[in-house]
Amino acid sequence: MMRDEGAASETTITFRGRGLGLRRGARIVVLVCPLCSQRNGSRGAERGVCEWCAYVPSPKDAELVVAA
Ligand SMILES: [Zn+2]
Repeated sequence: MMRDEGAASETTITFRGRGLGLRRGARIVVLVCPLCSQRNGSRGAERGVCEWCAYVPSPKDAELVVAA
């Protein structure tokens, strides 16, 4: 698979198979919270915290989404 793994690349992730996020270098962006299933606000997403329930993902929970 040819893929640019540069620092600026984004990777779609889930949190143990739930929610939705992006891995951007060392940062984790929370798009949909795996705990409360709410769509996160852009401010919280960029900070890597759910604006609804204050969930902060552990890097251990981040799982790559494999495109089918
Ligand atoms: Zn939440």
